[in-house]
Amino acid sequence: AQAATRSKGRPRASVNVYQLLREEREQSKRSKSEESGPTSPTRISVGDYVKLRRLDEQNGLIEEILPRQSELSRKDAGSTAEKIVPQTLLANLDQVVIVLAVAQPEPHFGFLDRYLAICEATRLQALICLNKADLPHASAIEEAAEQYRKLGYTLIFTSAHTGEGIEELRAHLKEHTTLFTGPSGVGKSSLVNALEPGMDIRTSEVSEATGKGRHTTTGSRLYPLSGGGWLADSAGIRALAAWNIPAEELAWCFVEFRPYLGECLYNDCTHINEEGCAILQAVEDGVVAESRHKSYVRMYMGEER
Ligand code: GDP
Ligand code: ZN
Repeated sequence: AQAATRSKGRPRASVNVYQLLREEREQSKRSKSEESGPTSPTRISVGDYVKLRRLDEQNGLIEEILPRQSELSRKDAGSTAEKIVPQTLLANLDQVVIVLAVAQPEPHFGFLDRYLAICEATRLQALICLNKADLPHASAIEEAAEQYRKLGYTLIFTSAHTGEGIEELRAHLKEHTTLFTGPSGVGKSSLVNALEPGMDIRTSEVSEATGKGRHTTTGSRLYPLSGGGWLADSAGIRALAAWNIPAEELAWCFVEFRPYLGECLYNDCTHINEEGCAILQAVEDGVVAESRHKSYVRMYMGEER
């Protein structure tokens, strides 16, 4: 679907990402036992797959919206109507490329950890991109990169300037609907341009200030990649950025913590300072990186959650 959804006068948007996905999963689990199929969405959104009946050369009729794999929605804090029916920004997003630069600006791994956790919480595939690999950088960055690869994440060094890593990145985008995110200045637009010369796509969130000082955020759009796959523009970033991971789910969103969950002395362990905490022990043993645990604590305390 190419239709862009539009909303006006939103000074602040709160979000509800993938809540519906979970509900839908629950529902499909339930309905399987009741031997009826999963329900189809009733309102079309950007990213939807549809069953189309061809009427003639020019025209077709949408007969059905196929069940969504994921749903990125926004609900407005001030609108009761949307609290009940969140507006879908984008359907079927399945991958997030988190872009950092090796230098200029220096990488902020806390940012990376936060987005990786959000990707785990929302079941989106995460891909890490360390751009500006052509610039001189500290060996500590190579070590950090290795650390994330050991966690199981795909990490690619790229340079929009020399072309390093671009083919590899392109291969990972094929067959996926991908959103690029990252701090400004890391080279997101340059990467998109290296991938697809001439593509005019918003890679950072833009809010257009109107005369009244309010913000207008337009809906999301998808752009086809010539090698296959789709790029989502940045309209969905705010929805992801504001995603709140429930405190009790947060530890699970740090993949290397998972083997220790359930091993702590106390059932309701927050893994912050408790005695007998298996995760703190793993940090002390050097099995879990202290930097990752610090990111966890920061997010748990709500500074970046
Ligand atoms: P965005 O804000 O993340 O979209 O970043 P831009 O694509 O606008 O790039 C910010 C600056 O970094 C620009 O001056 C680019 O020329 C530069 N830049 C982007 N990619 C690279 C790269 O791979 N290597 C180097 N050296 N500079 C880059
Ligand atoms: Zn613990």
